[in-house]
Amino acid sequence: MDNKDKVYNLAVAGVQQLIPYKPGKPIEELERELGLGRIIKLASNENPLGPGKKALAAIQAILPELALYPDGSGFLLKQALAKKYAVDVDQITLGNGSNEILELVARAFLTPELEVIFSQHAFAVYPIVTQAAGATAVVAPALNYGHDLDAMLERVSEKTRLVFIANPNNPTGTLLSQASLERFISALPDTVVCVLDEAYFEFVSSAEPINSIDWLKRYPNLLITRTFSKAYGLAGLRMGYGLSSPELANILNRVRQPFNNNMLVLAAAEAALTDEEHLQQTVAVNAQGMQQLTEGFKNLGLEWIPSAGNFVLVDLKQEGLPVYEALLRKGIIVRPVGVYELPDHLRISIGTKEENQLFLEALTDILANV
Ligand SMILES: *Cc1c(COP(=O)(O)O)cnc(C)c1O
Repeated sequence: MDNKDKVYNLAVAGVQQLIPYKPGKPIEELERELGLGRIIKLASNENPLGPGKKALAAIQAILPELALYPDGSGFLLKQALAKKYAVDVDQITLGNGSNEILELVARAFLTPELEVIFSQHAFAVYPIVTQAAGATAVVAPALNYGHDLDAMLERVSEKTRLVFIANPNNPTGTLLSQASLERFISALPDTVVCVLDEAYFEFVSSAEPINSIDWLKRYPNLLITRTFSKAYGLAGLRMGYGLSSPELANILNRVRQPFNNNMLVLAAAEAALTDEEHLQQTVAVNAQGMQQLTEGFKNLGLEWIPSAGNFVLVDLKQEGLPVYEALLRKGIIVRPVGVYELPDHLRISIGTKEENQLFLEALTDILANV
């Protein structure tokens, strides 16, 4: 055994077997590979409009304060969130992205004896935080690419401590009805913590009102997670939050680092919450872009999975990876989803009208030559 193996073997078993999260290819990396030229990234469900003006102004205004530690309690942002969602401040947990909330819940509730249930094709961070805690992942098969809540319930045992559900789900974009979700949560034993990941809830059509926050009063074991990374265009600054019972929030806050949110994002997120115009524009651009892309797919004879988020999975049959690579050579980054057991699909984040157009032109060109 050489020294490298020795260090590896010192790690806890779950971490040794862990396959790290693979993010979308960064623009800078493709620039280095291709040289100069325009690069379009439709790979990480980022906001194509960028951050809003109010968030940017708040960042500018706070810059002179950077020598100080940020407010570790996130007082002002929590107050703004509490007001917006009609919850108490002590029901909120702030995270370094909602990813951190997913980690906190795993750290606070899991041991190697326990099990975690999530769906096939669900968000890749769920298996990672489960494995890092040494707990056992129980994967329920998907139904029409989405969560099969009955199959998930069937897998609940005395060992189950956590359930993860993404609604809408990433990468499939599938949406569960509020009625079926509430039925699921009410059927869960109160010894199971239910994480309802709503990273994309702002994009869900108002025809399907999301009322999960109302459930918090009835289910002290429910944790809703949301983020400023997608609709609010602040992915680069990292801010997500959990909404739960005060008791559950109290547990999460015990394992949270005291200064997990930096000063810039505390100010930016608070300002972003007041920027209704930017949010509405984001949602409108997304709806138009979704229409534009799916019409383009239809014209190309391609099938896609209807999505409630700001991204869509398109089926390229056997050509998923070759098309991904051909798009890269044209300076367009999308997301292969083989790690989600969807090797035929590519996930396309909705861009601006112009970006979507350039993507469709590139795709048309590539498909004419395969
Ligand atoms: C993007 C995403 C998140 C979290 O992103 P953060 O930037 O860490 O807030 C969480 N869940 C799902 C399903 C996502 O797609």
